[in-house]
Amino acid sequence: MDVFNPATGALLNRLKEDSSESIKDRFQLARRVQPEWARLSLTERHNVVRKFRDLVAGEVESLAELLTSEMGKPLAHSRGEIKATLGRIDWFLERTEGVVREKIMHRDGQMVEKITFEPLGVIANISAWNFPYFVGSNVFIPALLCGNAVLYKPSELTVLTGLRFESLMRQAGVMEGLFQTVVGYGAVGKNLLEQDIDGVFFTGSYATGKKISESVAGRMIKVQMELGGKDPAYICDDVDIKIAAEVVGDGAFFNAGQSCCAVERIYVHEKIYDDFMLQLVRFAESLKVGDPLNVETYIGCLARKEQVAVLDEQIKDAIEKGATLMTGGSALDIDGPFYQVTVLKDATHQMKIMREESFGPIIAVQKVANDQEAIRLMKDTDYGLTASVHTKDQSRAEEILSQMHTGTVYWNCCDRVSPHLPWTGRKHSGVGSTLSELGIQAFVQPKAWHLRS
Ligand code: NAD
Repeated sequence: MDVFNPATGALLNRLKEDSSESIKDRFQLARRVQPEWARLSLTERHNVVRKFRDLVAGEVESLAELLTSEMGKPLAHSRGEIKATLGRIDWFLERTEGVVREKIMHRDGQMVEKITFEPLGVIANISAWNFPYFVGSNVFIPALLCGNAVLYKPSELTVLTGLRFESLMRQAGVMEGLFQTVVGYGAVGKNLLEQDIDGVFFTGSYATGKKISESVAGRMIKVQMELGGKDPAYICDDVDIKIAAEVVGDGAFFNAGQSCCAVERIYVHEKIYDDFMLQLVRFAESLKVGDPLNVETYIGCLARKEQVAVLDEQIKDAIEKGATLMTGGSALDIDGPFYQVTVLKDATHQMKIMREESFGPIIAVQKVANDQEAIRLMKDTDYGLTASVHTKDQSRAEEILSQMHTGTVYWNCCDRVSPHLPWTGRKHSGVGSTLSELGIQAFVQPKAWHLRS
């Protein structure tokens, strides 16, 4: 399996892909060691995970360079992702005990009713490449703290980072076999699911999530899916236009638009439409696209060169159906999949760009006459990850946001994730939650005790 730098095309490493035999061996080893890990006290598991966290903290620079070299994220953003992950790990270290400790629920004469929480067992964590630290650690940190073994299948585009996770886990004192990185493409992920695992925690596209859900249906194992989005932002007529344009522009273009919760559609009240377009285009044109290793770069290259054709097609389709290109519109004329920051106006829901996930630094804007029209259009999607409203009026925002069928809603912000809150999608954006206390409960099964003395 050859691993390339998407920005330069240089070969970074040549790895041996896992085979069906090696995956079986990995599973059997994980199955053998998991009960030993689960028997440790939470404090002992806690100490090992804290050591892993400290090892990551000690290597931020080299880990950031590795991440940037394999997926094209600007170096400054790779550093930011790794440092923010440390905070998330701290959050799990602080909160797990409160969620999984034994709870006496009821006493009645001689009867005591209590709940204990047991690990699921051996879980598969199949992951995406766009934020490997965030989406990986959201699963494997609470899973390990709760006493599970983890077979971690990173994306083929961030497999070197995935292998570093395993070696840092071992250095931290995680016993051999408890956290293993499975190396390979989609077929390897498929093979992993054929093992007798106790749960699958997937982050990736709806298309793959659907295949995985179908393949494990009937096995009655825990299944969580964190999938894509087509997240809308609505700009009301009372905003500070420049600030609103910069907030949603950042939500659309950060990480070259390759975020599950990137702003993917913008609706603007007709009273401020032209002024908003001016500010959004100005912001888009101010963003520096280029060498991901340059610390001033805001937008690196796309992780997959195939995505260039997807973006080209969405833009072409939109223009054919009446949209106007305001800036950008194609890949940069240099080697590597670098795409211009692109803004289109006068979009409609007949266009692919308003219906299909773009996953690139492109955004289309549609004019609306009032809040009712905005609400109708925001809800007109198969996805349900996030939605944002931008207005000075909190009650107007909450009235609109309460009507959204999404896992997350934002007032005057967007493209934001917090460990205090569940990260959860509806419809084609997925099922189940990571983060928050719900994202700890996801890795245990309750046992109800009825005890008569
Ligand atoms: P993807 O679906 O192509 O791949 C995800 C993972 O699944 C990879 O590790 C891949 O090797 C594996 N895989 C592919 N086919 C498989 C199969 N048949 N069986 C088992 N595993 C298989 O997604 P991607 O391109 O890595 O990630 C981008 C997608 O992820 C976007 O849609 C994005 O919105 C979504 N995403 C969602 C969240 C969230 O929290 N909701 C977070 C990040 C990314």
